[in-house]
Amino acid sequence: MANCFNHGDRDGAFRCAVCGKSVCEECVVQENNSNFCSAACKEKAAAMTGRSDAVIAEKAKTDSASLVRKLIYLFVVIAVIAAAYCFLSGEKKESAEKKFQRSIQTIEKESKGLVKEAKKALPTSSKLKRQKEGLVK
Ligand SMILES: [Zn+2]
Ligand SMILES: [Zn+2]
Repeated sequence: MANCFNHGDRDGAFRCAVCGKSVCEECVVQENNSNFCSAACKEKAAAMTGRSDAVIAEKAKTDSASLVRKLIYLFVVIAVIAAAYCFLSGEKKESAEKKFQRSIQTIEKESKGLVKEAKKALPTSSKLKRQKEGLVK
């Protein structure tokens, strides 16, 4: 360690926490377990600590604000997802109903066609039956 900044012939037993100068036991200014070369540096340190406290308080405020923002964002996302889910499931239901109706209509059409074909086929078959009966006779 370098010699005392004020006394070149003495060992610098302490290092200033602000400017890093070495100072002897006589010159050192101690405050809250910190060593300073002068009262000016001690005041600087106090000012810095106060500022960092303010910064920490500001950061905490910002953090809580961002947390609130995050929560709001989360709520919005959930709401959007819920709305989208409701919308999609509603649409699905609707399309399912449409499909069901369409399939019913198709079945009706097809069954009508079948009935028509059956009606057409019936006399033919009865004719055939009659013909067969005639042949048998
Ligand atoms: Zn200093
Ligand atoms: Zn000294």
